Amino acid sequence: MKLAIVGASGAVGHELLGVLEKSSLNFSELRLYASPRSAGSILECRGQKITVEVMPEGAIDADVILASAGGGISKTQAPIWAAAGAVVIDNSSAFRYEDTVPLVVPEINGDVLLESDWKAGGIIANPNCTTAILVMALEPLHKAFGIKRAIVSTYQATSGAGAKGMQELEQQTRNSLEGKPVVNEVFAHPIVFNLIPHIDAFLDNGYTKEEMKVLWETHKIMRAPQIKLSCTAVRIPTMRAHSEAVTLELERPATPQAARALLEAAAGVDVVDDPATKRYPMPLTASGKYNIEVGRIRSSLVFDGGLDLFICGDQLLKGAALNAVQIAEYLQQHNKI
Ligand code: NAP
Repeated sequence: MKLAIVGASGAVGHELLGVLEKSSLNFSELRLYASPRSAGSILECRGQKITVEVMPEGAIDADVILASAGGGISKTQAPIWAAAGAVVIDNSSAFRYEDTVPLVVPEINGDVLLESDWKAGGIIANPNCTTAILVMALEPLHKAFGIKRAIVSTYQATSGAGAKGMQELEQQTRNSLEGKPVVNEVFAHPIVFNLIPHIDAFLDNGYTKEEMKVLWETHKIMRAPQIKLSCTAVRIPTMRAHSEAVTLELERPATPQAARALLEAAAGVDVVDDPATKRYPMPLTASGKYNIEVGRIRSSLVFDGGLDLFICGDQLLKGAALNAVQIAEYLQQHNKI
């Protein structure tokens, strides 16, 4: 199996290399592509030094392409790569809402991948990072108790805006502490010593596109369009791992104990929930971890029988690189590539 990464020099690309290093995915060749800016640089995977190449204009000679060079590139290039026989696992939002494109978190709806024959190529969408982390906790609770309504507030790290987001936080922190002017280019306002309730574009309904992605993608991945969901997405001055405060109204009453037991049994989830010893999910503990953390699980004071919880997950891993590699692993395990 020939594998390629497009966007290998970016924040997600870097994590893809790290995840592939530890993955059981079987491949004979790995090609790395980016823009002319980083072409020629050398990256490592499984003991091999690989030179980053300029992304070609047309088809790429690969069976599987992990695409993480942004929505614009995916929109124009992914159909060309797929038509030439590659399975494109796309990290951008370019194809997530197309009915014919599966949007997949393998633990939740990996089975949708079995409905097609991927050997001739095609496009599979990797979800929005906030959503991928959220559904990992919601799915087991939904199966047991039926989620009627979810209210989600997010606290999203600067790396959600790519490598340049982290650089902006670092530079602004340095400048701020040294009394130099703080300049913002990536984010709408200075992010250092601040938070910004604005991620992606504002839409006509007053929500941002990031907030609506959480609704649209939760419905598609969980195959539960009946769930009502409202999200407020906020950028905060951390480097990585997104956090989410979640309030759930449920069809059938839940207890925190029952919720904890279900989440403890769920693949990809760690319950970190012992307030007495100050153990709860945090970006510091969730960063670099494959599993998402769930804690602060308690009965809702607003919805009878409902729940409140707090989630943290490394959005560069489960929200991007890890999930993409897990999709490729799932296809290989089921002899689909
Ligand atoms: P990033 O750090 O800005 O990296 C972008 C990558 O794309 C770099 O490798 C860059 O190469 C490459 N690229 C840019 N323009 C290109 C061009 N014209 N031709 C070829 N390659 C080009 O961004 P990122 O955070 O990794 O995000 C990548 C994608 O994943 C985006 O669609 C993003 O929405 C999605 N995503 C990101 C996250 C996250 O948490 N960051 C989570 C989920 C999904 P150069 O180094 O040469 O510029």
